[in-house]
Amino acid sequence: MTGSFRLGVACAVGALAGRLSKALGRGRGETLSGRVILAIDPQAISKLSSGRDVVVVSGTNGKTTSTKNLATILRDFAGEGVSTSESGANMPAGIAALLAQSPRNRFAVIECDEMYLPDMYRQLAPKVVVLLNLSRDQLHRTGEVRKVANLWHEAFSRDDVTLVIDRDDPFLEYAAANAGHVIRVSFNGRRHPDAATCPNCAAILNWSSGDYACPCGLGKQLPDVRADKRLDGPQRNTVLVIEAARLMGAEILADEAQDLINKSPDRIHDFMVSDKKVPTHLAKNPESWRQALGDVTSDQVVLSVNARGIDGRDTSWLWDIDYSALLGKNVVCTGERRLDVAYRLSVQGIEVSVASSFSKAVENFPAGPIQAIVSYTAFQDLLTSELGISQGKSGSR
Ligand SMILES: [Zn+2]
Repeated sequence: MTGSFRLGVACAVGALAGRLSKALGRGRGETLSGRVILAIDPQAISKLSSGRDVVVVSGTNGKTTSTKNLATILRDFAGEGVSTSESGANMPAGIAALLAQSPRNRFAVIECDEMYLPDMYRQLAPKVVVLLNLSRDQLHRTGEVRKVANLWHEAFSRDDVTLVIDRDDPFLEYAAANAGHVIRVSFNGRRHPDAATCPNCAAILNWSSGDYACPCGLGKQLPDVRADKRLDGPQRNTVLVIEAARLMGAEILADEAQDLINKSPDRIHDFMVSDKKVPTHLAKNPESWRQALGDVTSDQVVLSVNARGIDGRDTSWLWDIDYSALLGKNVVCTGERRLDVAYRLSVQGIEVSVASSFSKAVENFPAGPIQAIVSYTAFQDLLTSELGISQGKSGSR
């Protein structure tokens, strides 16, 4: 088979498999479709991305939201078709499927899992790579951050890529150390919870000025963009996304950029439970929990943690978080691991109770604002049951 014929067959059969999978109710069909494409043509990702303007987004927190945000900004400001994953699929099969879907779009904005980034970088040959942040995920506790930083450091030892990074993160500064072109965005320093020692030389980093310094010189490069220190996580990600969009050719004026930062999408979703609105944070790892806890203003808080599939079965990461923001509040734990969370909080002197379900947790609160922080599969469960909940109450759907 010739290369383009093989690719054509791969995409046709892959699309068919995806439609079948969807029709049989086995999910969106993206992953199966991508697996079929890659089984028939292992070079499909590089072929499908060839001649297109690709930008890749990776990092521990905010990848999916930032990828959607960047795709929207490019659509609005560059006026061109943009291919992107709607579902947050970020591994090779999902990436192959999204590229195959609209091969004529000039732009492709691709979310990539951290571990797959070096390989996808080689295959996709992106113009720009956005590195949002790197911190411990809940799934792999030991040495993971350093392992990923080392992989990235080796992958980006080439001249033909432009990286956009948050240089306040020492792991990203190290990852970008040999890259040809780097846009360093600084938010004027911010202590990194996992970076006591230097990713480059293992010396103890000096954080005394609120920023890091090392005798080996890591972090000495001046930033290209200085942004407001007071921005929160989603807003910081938007600043990086705007820089990437500009590199891709979007003209974004200063006041338009400020507007985009003000309207930064975050991971809060309002669920209606028993006629009560519950703004709910999706938090998947210690860093996103810290951010979510920083946003808790209500006195009534629901925490829901599962340990299923993508959550990881090991909940020991719960002990890496400081919950003092919850002291004195009315906290109810739910989810499959509610007892783990309740015990962790009680050790920190926080009074908690447990409920058998999210809706029961909410129903037990008296009037007044409620906020929730939930793990990945707990969030998915809420999204799935949302239809049922709103249907029962409003009858509108
Ligand atoms: Zn060093």
